[in-house]
Amino acid sequence: MTDRDSSDVLAGARIETLAVRAGISRSPEGEHSEPIYTTSSYIFNSAAEAAARFAGEQPGNVYSRYTNPTVRGFEERMAALEGGEAAVAAASGMAAILATAMALLSAGDHVICSRDVFGTTTNLFGKYLTRFGVQVDFVPLLDADAWRAAVKPNTAMLFLETPSNPLNEVADIAAFAALAKDAGALLVVDNTFCTPALQRPLDFGADIVLHSGTKFLDGQGRCMGGVVVGSREHMAEVMTFLRTCGPSLSPFNAWVLFKGLETLGLRMEAHCRSTLALARWLQAQPEVQRVFYAGLEDHPGHTLAARQQSAFGGVLAFEVGRGREGAWRCIDGTRILSLTANLGDAKSTIVHPATTTHGRLTPEQRAEAGISDGLIRVAVGLEHVDDLKADLRRGLDALA
Ligand SMILES: *Cc1c(COP(=O)(O)O)cnc(C)c1O
Repeated sequence: MTDRDSSDVLAGARIETLAVRAGISRSPEGEHSEPIYTTSSYIFNSAAEAAARFAGEQPGNVYSRYTNPTVRGFEERMAALEGGEAAVAAASGMAAILATAMALLSAGDHVICSRDVFGTTTNLFGKYLTRFGVQVDFVPLLDADAWRAAVKPNTAMLFLETPSNPLNEVADIAAFAALAKDAGALLVVDNTFCTPALQRPLDFGADIVLHSGTKFLDGQGRCMGGVVVGSREHMAEVMTFLRTCGPSLSPFNAWVLFKGLETLGLRMEAHCRSTLALARWLQAQPEVQRVFYAGLEDHPGHTLAARQQSAFGGVLAFEVGRGREGAWRCIDGTRILSLTANLGDAKSTIVHPATTTHGRLTPEQRAEAGISDGLIRVAVGLEHVDDLKADLRRGLDALA
């Protein structure tokens, strides 16, 4: 560590600078780039030092299930980017959500979770946490009355994603923070879609922000990872869960994510620019009935998104005619876009939500959530936007 890397120097630095500089602690070798520490354990200089490390009386590494210098670097960079006191990395986005829930909830607690969250998050809360005595209610993201009505004396956590997947519904984080405060509950925001380059939920009063690092933080579809950011006190609890239960982030994946953050700002700018251009272009195509992207002025979430986010993100959805058959024809007619449910990759992806990401819902639940059979989701990557337009044109031509 030199004074060039110290956190004092970076106090007040902007996101772009933090993404490249925060969290670096150089070894005596003086390497410039962030190294990978592929070690499971650490040696001590004496039995007394081992005892002091185990007792937590002396800082330092013991075992990579708890701490690893590469993982710590990624955590420190994420804490800096989100404007939180501390961060804890986990093996995947789901591990980050599980660790947050297990660390901060107990049997008898009540959770209100947005209906419009990642499908596996719904299962984690609805299928597993309920088995351990946590009560869970699911409420449509934008139904403020329903959220207020769902609050109970034992409500301990509100959980949401904004913007929602795939319709780009935008929730007012500050309003949710006020509701959580009144309820004596924690507000947890899954910020996977925006990343701190576009939105910082802690600035609007959220208590905890978490990510699937697998998506935009890595940005190139190379590894799984997750991270939770919040107060030192909350993160100590999350860390204790990981240390005890084991879904820690591997040093190699931490390194991929750590280096991925260096280009986060530039990548997000490019994702957002192409997505907006594609959304406008799709609106003008005769086969397209409706486009869902908060960057479009006629989207109901546009004004709020413009206030809360610095740009509108890399995911859009659009509807074509003839329901499932039309959507499948359009998807199968494309040649460049990858047919996969992943997102946040340099490669653009296209998927049919009604039969994949939202396929477990009943037709009534899908209708309520606005997921029509003709809906197609595109997560826009870093290819040239004109090539993406040409590819989607091929897809739309297949509807004829
Ligand atoms: C992918 C995703 C998750 C789960 O993350 P994994 O890394 O796949 O475990 C959670 N939330 C959102 C919004 C996601 O897109």
